[in-house]
This record gives sequence, C-alpha cells and structure tokens, in this order.
Amino acid sequence: MRKRIVAGNWKMNKTYEEALSLVSEIDNMVKDEVNGDVTVIVAPPFPFLQSVGKLTQGNDLMHLAAQNVSEHDSGAYTGEVSASMLKSVGVQYVIIGHSERRMYHHEDAQALYKKLKATIAQGMTPIFCCGEPLEERDADRHFEYVGKQLHDSLSYLSNEEFDKVVIAYEPIWAIGTGRTASSQQAQEMHAYIREQLSRMFDAEAAFNCSILYGGSCNPGNAKELFAQPDVDGGLIGGASLKSRDFTDIIKSF
Ligand code: PEP
Repeated sequence: MRKRIVAGNWKMNKTYEEALSLVSEIDNMVKDEVNGDVTVIVAPPFPFLQSVGKLTQGNDLMHLAAQNVSEHDSGAYTGEVSASMLKSVGVQYVIIGHSERRMYHHEDAQALYKKLKATIAQGMTPIFCCGEPLEERDADRHFEYVGKQLHDSLSYLSNEEFDKVVIAYEPIWAIGTGRTASSQQAQEMHAYIREQLSRMFDAEAAFNCSILYGGSCNPGNAKELFAQPDVDGGLIGGASLKSRDFTDIIKSF
C-alpha cells in the first residue's frame, strides 16, 4: 500500500519565531482535522529543524524533513550539513535534487546519487525531485528529460535502497508560477515515472513508491490532482507557508 504524503517545503522563508508559530498552527490543525491516513512532512530551513521537530514530536502524523544534505559524511566542507547530523536532530526525510538546487547550486546527477546514498545509509527517506523546464515540454521532450533524470541518479541504487525512495515530480514551469500542471498532465507523467521505475527496480517496489506532484499546488486544485491514480500526494512550496492552506491541501485526499 502506497503512503499518501503531503510535504511542505518552506525554502528560505521565516524567522525562528515565525517558523515555530507556523508549525504549531499546522500541528494543531492536523490534530483536530486530519484523519490518520496521510503522512504530513514539514521541511524548515536547517537552523530551525530541531525546534520544529520537537514541537511535532507528540503528533504521529507529522514528520520532519531537511531541504538538502551534503554528499560527504564529514570533514572540511564549510557550510555543508551531513546526513548523520540531520539524523541526530530527528530528521526523517530529505528533499534531494530540487530544481532550485540543480539550477542555482549546479547539483548534477552524480552528486544527487551520492546524496541519495548518504541519506538512505542513515535510515532516512529521500524525496527525489525531478521535472522538466518549459522548453523541454514545449518541444515535447518532457518524458525523455524526466526519464533521464531518474535514470542518471537512481539506477545505481539497489532494490533495497530504492524501497526507501519517494519521488516528487515538479515541472519547473509550474513551480512558484501559479501555473499548475493539469491533473491529466500530472497523471500521465506520474504513470510514466512509475513505468520507468519498474524497469530499473522490482515491479512491486515501483508500484509501492509514492510519487508526489509539486508545482503551484493549492487548496483549489489539490483534490483533483490527488484523485489521479498515480498521484500519491504533493510537495508544496508557497501554500505550505500558510497553515490554513497547507492543512486544506492535506485534507484534499
Ligand atoms: C516547490 O518548490 O517544491 C514547489 C512545489 O513550489 P510551489 O508550490 O510554490 O510551486
């Protein structure tokens, strides 16, 4: 049975106090309004991870994610944060390969593979992001583009390692633009991703892999997106910064 997941990527937003009040609001709304069949994840900036995690500890539905991880285990890598450090402050999920990191920090397929390995080795779950830019979709090369992203970073994992992985399909043209993919566009890409995964790994593991949609998902469009057979939830940016919107998205299953 696939996990249904809604994850909030806070990106580089919020001060410490704002982060604590946002997570407290989400935590209370989830306790009051959400049934037990969904995994809720919040991904605050690094400095707030431990405090945000502590505030959600008593709520079984809530989980903690980091937005990035170093590919290295330890040592002279100024400014980096290792998987074991994340694990030691209670992180359970790590977002890997977000398009903003690929674009602004030049993270390539090989680096992402190493980040996946480091995350899985610490017993955490990677949320591996993929998605095409607008020019690839306009040129009708979006399947090929996403297929290559998956192949280039995931195909070296073992079946056991892949069992831990969550995928997020995030078309770059839909991120932060207000222009979401239609439910049909999301479904056809998610089905394609699942098929590619079944070629690389066990068919059963591919079937059980949660594939999230990300890109201008909001309370108005989440229900239709989440109703698609291969859409197992969402990775939410802007709307995850508002407790009411985020909770309403969680309730859209
Ligand atoms: C994201 O960047 O992961 C994202 C989905 O952003 P938004 O929801 O703001 O488009």
